Amino acid sequence: MGGDFSFQIRTLPFSFAHESDRLLMTNLRLLSLDFDGTMIAPWESEPATVSQPLVDHLNLLRRHGTIIAMNTGRTLELVDKALKFFPFRPDYALTTEREIYKANGSGWEPIAEWNEDCQQSHDQLYRDASELLADVERYLSNRTQARLHRESGRLVGVVAQDPPEMEGIISYLDSQRRRVAEFSYQRNGIYLRFCHARFDKGSVLQGLQAHLGIEPGETFAAGDNYNDLPMLRREIARHLACPVNSIIEVKTAVREGGGYVSDQVGGDGLVEALSRLSSTGDVNS
Ligand SMILES: [Mg+2]
Repeated sequence: MGGDFSFQIRTLPFSFAHESDRLLMTNLRLLSLDFDGTMIAPWESEPATVSQPLVDHLNLLRRHGTIIAMNTGRTLELVDKALKFFPFRPDYALTTEREIYKANGSGWEPIAEWNEDCQQSHDQLYRDASELLADVERYLSNRTQARLHRESGRLVGVVAQDPPEMEGIISYLDSQRRRVAEFSYQRNGIYLRFCHARFDKGSVLQGLQAHLGIEPGETFAAGDNYNDLPMLRREIARHLACPVNSIIEVKTAVREGGGYVSDQVGGDGLVEALSRLSSTGDVNS
């Protein structure tokens, strides 16, 4: 998920400075945006590239009352690290594909009712799945070179060495997961996080919509990887998009949902999709 926080600002040879009137014509009230690979282009060791047109566009939408939510697999701590180099602070952070935090000055305020339900569900899951998780840990330690990821002593996920190793881990998990009905996982490339089956980027977005009184028809969602699939559905967000660097499964889901597959990378792809939406009211028109 990137640990290098050097970055550069890139501009495109066009501007959205005169689009504010057209933006008023849309009914867009909520954006649910994945961060890594979507708001920002994928990067490894080279500096992360920030799309200045995206930052400008998000500021413009916010001035017209649109709420911007970052819907990410990152923890809140890693969201703050991302915001050290990405110069736009979202109104909400939906973290680890399941918790909701509202921006509160320079900090974050949990949406307590949602987050407590989420916490209790996971506490129960970890009690129900203790034997399953012990077997998973044995498998990962003995059969793979993957790195186990723990939080507060709990095995919460795994980082594979490469995609083929993750494919093997997925096969193993899928052969075992029926032992505990509520046991599931979210995958993002070589990263995987265990979770309660009721929680994913789609259900957490629905939780935020209910909290704000915003409808799917007023919502735009964009992402690039497996863990984004649950929110890239027309019944959750009427307006869907993905950048060119998305996995094929995401491109298929976005097309099937009537959304827009950009030919631009990361944030530039988002700008392209949002521009189409602001000029036509539909990303695919
Ligand atoms: Mg991503």
